Amino acid sequence: MSQVFGSSAANGAPIAAYGAPTAAGRPDVDDETLVAAVAVANIPTLLMVLVQMTGELHWLDEPYRPKRQPGLGDNDTGGLAPEHQQDVREAALEAIAAWRDGRPMVIPEPDDVLITRMLSTAMGEHVPDEYGAFTAAQLGLAKFLDHDPINVPPGFKVLVIGAGASGLCAAVNLKQAGVPYEVVERNGTVGGVWWENRYPGAGVDTPNHLYSYSFAPHDWKMYFCLRDELHGYLEKVADDFDVRRAIRFNTSVERISYDAQRQVWRAEVRHVADNEGRWETGRLGLSATPDETGLRRRDDGAATAPGANGHAQGIDGPAEIIEANVVISAAGIFNPPIRPNIDGLETWSGETWHTARWPADADLAGKSVAIVGNGASCMQTAPEIQDDVESLTIYQRSNHWAAPFDQFRKPVPDAMRTLFEAVPLYRAWYRVRLGWTFNDRIHTALQRDPDWEHPERSLNAQNDAHRKYFTRYVVDELGDRADELLDKVLPTYPPFGKRMLMDNGWYRMLRNPSVELVDEPIAEISGQTIRTVDGAEREADVLVLATGFDVLRFITTYEAAGRSGRTLRESWGDDDASAYLGTVTPDFPNFFTLYGPNLQPGHGGSLIFVVEMQVRYIMDMIGKMCAAGLGAVEVRPEVHAEYRSRVDEAHENMVWMHPGMTSYYRNESGRIVVNSPWRNVDYFDMTSEANLDDYVCEPRAADRELVAD
Ligand SMILES: Cc1cc2nc3c(=O)[nH]c(=O)nc-3n(C[C@H](O)[C@H](O)[C@H](O)COP(=O)(O)OP(=O)(O)OC[C@H]3O[C@@H](n4cnc5c(N)ncnc54)[C@H](O)[C@@H]3O)c2cc1C
Repeated sequence: MSQVFGSSAANGAPIAAYGAPTAAGRPDVDDETLVAAVAVANIPTLLMVLVQMTGELHWLDEPYRPKRQPGLGDNDTGGLAPEHQQDVREAALEAIAAWRDGRPMVIPEPDDVLITRMLSTAMGEHVPDEYGAFTAAQLGLAKFLDHDPINVPPGFKVLVIGAGASGLCAAVNLKQAGVPYEVVERNGTVGGVWWENRYPGAGVDTPNHLYSYSFAPHDWKMYFCLRDELHGYLEKVADDFDVRRAIRFNTSVERISYDAQRQVWRAEVRHVADNEGRWETGRLGLSATPDETGLRRRDDGAATAPGANGHAQGIDGPAEIIEANVVISAAGIFNPPIRPNIDGLETWSGETWHTARWPADADLAGKSVAIVGNGASCMQTAPEIQDDVESLTIYQRSNHWAAPFDQFRKPVPDAMRTLFEAVPLYRAWYRVRLGWTFNDRIHTALQRDPDWEHPERSLNAQNDAHRKYFTRYVVDELGDRADELLDKVLPTYPPFGKRMLMDNGWYRMLRNPSVELVDEPIAEISGQTIRTVDGAEREADVLVLATGFDVLRFITTYEAAGRSGRTLRESWGDDDASAYLGTVTPDFPNFFTLYGPNLQPGHGGSLIFVVEMQVRYIMDMIGKMCAAGLGAVEVRPEVHAEYRSRVDEAHENMVWMHPGMTSYYRNESGRIVVNSPWRNVDYFDMTSEANLDDYVCEPRAADRELVAD
């Protein structure tokens, strides 16, 4: 009998909300540190702190009202005159010091109307009323991920597949609610993509004060951290919330199937060899596109049926069965890495690896390096390695928009780190501001205006203004090589058509004489020679495949057979996944997919927040199942179909349907499968609670102890 975790009452201890004052009371921070921090703090955020701490609403009006800033920047001065900035800093310093010394906050819980007014001021633009409740939850003022203990029937258990950012979020919340659960993770540790992607420069393009759990604020060293810091954060969350002991590492789920009579999922799992080994060779785990027989071939030549485990790590244990009432799939979508279909790739005789399988001992010093693909991974790694290599040739497959951000890859100054830690209210408002900037603020700019006169280059006047703004930036960055390079690098499709990347010095790197950007497609590879369609041949010592992941197929690492015995792959086809709220699928009772279809916030922002909204919904559903004595909940086909139509209809007008580009968002038939069409505030409302009317509900068959051996 395997151990069932998370069942003790002690696990129901509350988790801290993001903006809530520390339980320990006022911070122990001296005047000198406060002075240094407030002197460099963000003015719009300080204004919010001032209003709540003093109750003085005049700080929301002129001359202190920040001006709107274009782009994604923090707007640190708020565009205020220097003397008005000074007023704000002095008053904020006094207010924070008084609060530290014990003075109560005058408005600890602003109502929704005041919150929206404050946010409008902080952003220098109108924020609609509907953002009141949404923002209150992020400030820790309203219930969000804060579950009361759930009274589960004997033997009830949840299986979570995967311990990346999503699986950890589920685990922490299940534990907090006292729901017995177990996590199965095929890697040797937590973190998912943040464990696997180790290429130089790997890091986030969403600022970390936003890209982090609402329940686990962190003292970030960088505004946009690199992979090691983020992976360390996820390790810390696993320890701080004591969920690691509920995770079975080096264990792969191979297949799950639903037993309708017993209302349980049966998962076949196997021990897999430690993944550490694969970094040594750097060549494992690549998925090829399907060959003519429909099978995928792994690097070792073995064929894997669609839906089977596309990973090359050794499966070396006998199958074991785990049974669970509910399965939460948190298997991620950025896997497996794609091996491109290039003639002669198999003849490559130099070193080669995929960015997601960067060898720990890779040594590029003095070597000629070729990178195929110039998406997010290449954009992060190429500027990072340019000075180590003898030459760098980048084979561009399509170009991308990349935005500037003042603080990208910059350290958070010590004084600011102290302020974030000492004044949770400052940190909470800073995060809320980032949320608006990186998420819903630009949503309207991504809708097609049918009367717009330049549909070939942009969608509407605002999107056209974005194009001008980013184009100016690119021209400036390319400097004296702009005339030569601009046509190659500037996308013809509208900004935000593909995920907006952060500029990591990409354009400046292109000015480096030892870097060449080739935009001719590759015709053939032979030995160590790469020939492009124009007949040019270039040699390289190392070939790096920055060719992305098999994202569109969604669940690729295990097979799932539902109530009818049909598999998810059969239901979804190879690339047409859809799920109600991106989470549940007909014929798959009690099965929830985190980071499911149509959930990626294509207009930017944090996937972690999306997953938190999903987890809140799932926890509500589990609570309702237990309270009502339900053994199975299965989304009604008509609810799912209607949702799918709404998603497709909402996408019709959005930027990613623009005809002038391809992206990993769209499947073969042109349907958007990966991106969400919704604003965060919409999805927040849709997932605020599980509506049992959307489901076919079955009473529990019988109370029983589950056998899990
Ligand atoms: C390089 C890179 C940068 C990114 N940057 C950002 C960013 O800045 N902002 C943003 O919002 N998003 C970003 N993303 C997207 C990122 O994928 C998500 O933000 C998030 O980390 C996904 O977490 P996850 O847990 O859903 O998936 P994953 O991190 O993929 O974790 C899935 C886990 O499930 C395990 N697993 C899978 N199948 C099985 C199985 N059959 N059995 C057992 N275990 C299994 C895997 O081993 C893995 O540990 C980035 C992605 C990449 C690759």
